[in-house]
Amino acid sequence: MRQLAELLGVGSVEVIKQLMRNGILANINQAVDFDAASSVVVSFGYEVQKPQAAPRASPVRKEEGGELEPRPPVITIMGHVDHGKTSLLDAIRQTNVIATEVGAITQHIGAYQVEVDGRKITFLDTPGHEAFTAMRARGAQATDITVLVVAADDGVMPQTVEAINHARAAGVPIVVAINKIDKPDANPEVVKQRLADLGLVIEEWSGDVVCVSISAKKRQGISELLENLLLVADILELKADPNCPAEGVVVEAGLDKTRGSLVTFLVQKGTLGIGDALVVGNVWGKVKAMFDDLGRHIKKAGPATPVEVLGVNGIPQAGDTFMVVSDEHRARSILEERAAKAQRETSAFSEPLSLSALSAQISSGRVKELNIILKTDVQGSIEPLKDSLERLSTEELKVKVIHSGSGSIIESDVLLALASKGVIVGFNARPQPGARRLAEVEGISIRYYDVIYELVEDVEKALKGMLEPTYTEVVEGHAEVRAIFSAGKKGKVAGIYIKEGKISREASARILRQGEIVCESRIGSLKRFKGDVKEVVAGFECGVGIEGFIDFQVGDIIESYRREEVT
Ligand code: GDP
Repeated sequence: MRQLAELLGVGSVEVIKQLMRNGILANINQAVDFDAASSVVVSFGYEVQKPQAAPRASPVRKEEGGELEPRPPVITIMGHVDHGKTSLLDAIRQTNVIATEVGAITQHIGAYQVEVDGRKITFLDTPGHEAFTAMRARGAQATDITVLVVAADDGVMPQTVEAINHARAAGVPIVVAINKIDKPDANPEVVKQRLADLGLVIEEWSGDVVCVSISAKKRQGISELLENLLLVADILELKADPNCPAEGVVVEAGLDKTRGSLVTFLVQKGTLGIGDALVVGNVWGKVKAMFDDLGRHIKKAGPATPVEVLGVNGIPQAGDTFMVVSDEHRARSILEERAAKAQRETSAFSEPLSLSALSAQISSGRVKELNIILKTDVQGSIEPLKDSLERLSTEELKVKVIHSGSGSIIESDVLLALASKGVIVGFNARPQPGARRLAEVEGISIRYYDVIYELVEDVEKALKGMLEPTYTEVVEGHAEVRAIFSAGKKGKVAGIYIKEGKISREASARILRQGEIVCESRIGSLKRFKGDVKEVVAGFECGVGIEGFIDFQVGDIIESYRREEVT
């Protein structure tokens, strides 16, 4: 239920209420059956897609057009430090690498593929949610499934929770691997319970989260984990068109002393081939040579294949996307277009993630959610704050606390805000220096509070601003044009007499001639005795310039008005 509420982006109370309307009484930690869940889903205006819901029922990603063929899943491993992410990646690689040549030496290119029952699985081998979200912050969605590693002797730790929230924010399903079960003090049941508290209810407990117990060290449970990943991949129906021009993301990039720029791509659709011209991030290139994760020369790389490429004229960043284009000429012109676009957007995006800027984006219909990352000084204040914030949601606008935790604001919080277009709220919590710098560079807004009331009120205000604002016009005054003067080279100002109300410098203005509007604009200048004034009231004379208008006639009426927002 909690999961359902999160998926729908509504408060749990809403879900409970809807169930009650359907005659079902359930609490938030309870699981409900498919029919009950779908009736709730439909009532919130969503479509129910699949009876066998994938873990976290993430949307089935289908590509448009072209002949779609099944493709391997792309997996990222996440979890708390020292819980065994690297050991698991090593264990998987060593036991299942596609080693056709005996003794082939695996090399680190940022991703690798293994084969299980004749099917391939691709692993991104920079583990952790920081790398995952950093890629997402650059616009790349490379991962299909996350393996959440939790050490059975240590249990759910802060970074476990972070990983869960980062995966959820990305809508990526989670498969749990309870690691280190070889240890005498391993306690998998405690782990399962804590995960259930966090809304990850495993299948064994009638939930929908796949959970496998493993020992990365002793190589136990590895093939079971891999088989389960394939099962989840089947539910997700991962497909891609192998025949279109290749597209994908940069997994890793670096400089080789002798060979120049070496970039690992994850091909996401199409097939990359030798000689292909491509654009990647801010650079372009032509594929001179390609290598797989065993360092072998290859000529083609299809969907979900990681491949190391020679021939890129520069070093793109992890998470940059690439696409194959017809030729070098086209590549260059795309880059020029991109550069120009980036420049145009710099100003528009210079402050894209402050509460007020989000407000504007929401009111223009581009954003329907306010994603909040909440950090507090003490664990105890998280729940009440989260509740108060999420309760501010309305039908049109959802307030979602996508991640919360106690402690200082860290870099991965900033990355998550960036990737999820969210804001960070620190309640008696301050950022670490690195996080502060990153937030400044990326223009992420961090707001600090020490009083609950102020925090809630601010968010509420922002939400009000986010709601489609309705404006009403308030007429301030009328003036009559009595004389016309030249001003500057081509300018004209009108000498006016204020008949009623006032004319003010900041107002909008329209010019009426015999009752008809001849111009709608703004007051450009307002002067009395050569000095600029803010406003002139009824009974006085002054000079006025109207932006973009010079064709005054004596007798014209200038109406000054304001647009005011109705809340
Ligand atoms: P990471 O920080 O999550 O990448 O964790 P590592 O893979 O570096 O593992 C941390 C420590 O846990 C290392 O000393 C590993 O040898 C140990 N470790 C990892 N998996 C297991 C396991 O299944 N059993 C035991 N006993 N130790 C493990």
